[in-house]
Amino acid sequence: MNTDTKPVMFIFDLDGTVTSEETLPLIANHFKVEEEIENLTKETIQGNIPFVESFIRRVFILGKLPVSEVADLLETTKLYPHLLEFIQTHRDNCAIATGNLECWSYKLLQKIGCAYYCSDSIVENNKVVKLTKILRKEQIVENYQQEGYKVVFIGDGNNDLEAMRVADIAISVGTTHYPSKSILPITDYLIFNEEALCRQLSQLL
Ligand SMILES: [Mg+2]
Repeated sequence: MNTDTKPVMFIFDLDGTVTSEETLPLIANHFKVEEEIENLTKETIQGNIPFVESFIRRVFILGKLPVSEVADLLETTKLYPHLLEFIQTHRDNCAIATGNLECWSYKLLQKIGCAYYCSDSIVENNKVVKLTKILRKEQIVENYQQEGYKVVFIGDGNNDLEAMRVADIAISVGTTHYPSKSILPITDYLIFNEEALCRQLSQLL
């Protein structure tokens, strides 16, 4: 039980945390640009390319694809059903923070049904022509803290690191794949299955 007087805000990463498959390979497979994306992902994981640059390059490769088709495709991304139920039951205390572009993810995010925060871009003729904002997840955490919330961040990747550091409680999930090593030292709870995650979230409410 949350014995604080502060209300709790759960902020979730999207890919691999709420979805049980990564959205980027889904797009790459569908549009047959796997090779380009795979090379980029490999280079990023090896640390040869910093995340922000990798993200910009990714958007450059995928931005040429028809935006409406990407949004339709991502709407079909597999989600963790019990986690989805938890979010929908407590939607006023849940939010999603994803680095993905809003124009690609909004249909999926609206289906989930809580507040969400994404990276932004300019779309012209159904194509991404310019990246205008890369979401800094820690900023969302700080905003909710300033509003008086106790923030629990739930994530699995290196791009969740700063948000998890700033959050009052950090939960690393290994439900889709093993969480990034970088987030383990700042983790309060390390959870490997959906049921255990939902139980833990209910206890923190
Ligand atoms: Mg993730």
